[in-house]
Amino acid sequence: MPAHEVVVLRIGHRPERDQRVTTHVALTGRALGACGMYLAASDKGVVQSVGDVVERWGGTFFCEDKVSWRTCIKDWKAAGGVVVHLTMYGLNLPDVMGEISPHAKILVVVGAEKVPGEMYGLADFNVAVTGQPHSEISSLALFLDHLFSGTELIKVYPDAKIRIHPSRAGKQTEEL
Ligand code: SAM
Repeated sequence: MPAHEVVVLRIGHRPERDQRVTTHVALTGRALGACGMYLAASDKGVVQSVGDVVERWGGTFFCEDKVSWRTCIKDWKAAGGVVVHLTMYGLNLPDVMGEISPHAKILVVVGAEKVPGEMYGLADFNVAVTGQPHSEISSLALFLDHLFSGTELIKVYPDAKIRIHPSRAGKQTEEL
């Protein structure tokens, strides 16, 4: 199994209403093993919020806005990567994970309200995390967890300024 380089591409973001969800897409990607997120919209607020978390909690997760999603997909493929579009209309995750996981470079595309029909044709894999409607955050989380087989849950973040010591009750943190 290759070491995976996974980057999230967030399309359809509406700055006036999706800031919180898009920030959570990025934070979920970061916490569960993705390297970064491309945002196909201009939103410095999202970039700033994600940057603040990386600064404090460590790691090298990047968040880049103003990305043209078609160019991003084209460049990713030209660099040898595959494109996984998460959509409830796709093939169910357990049926395609075996085909996806041998690929080292994976761009995971998640939408907001309405995804352009063109996206389905550009994707190498249209993947459903169940055939039920839910959310870009939950579908991304489950996709990453299946891809990394749970190993992402014990990841340690270099250069963190704060770390949590897991405890049964209360909150224990350490400033580093
Ligand atoms: N109805 C929209 C459409 O036509 O594509 C989707 C809206 S949904 C709130 C936003 C995003 O969540 C989708 O673009 C997709 O990436 C993700 N999503 C929601 N349910 C999903 C599922 N069952 N499997 C995979 N992804 C899902």
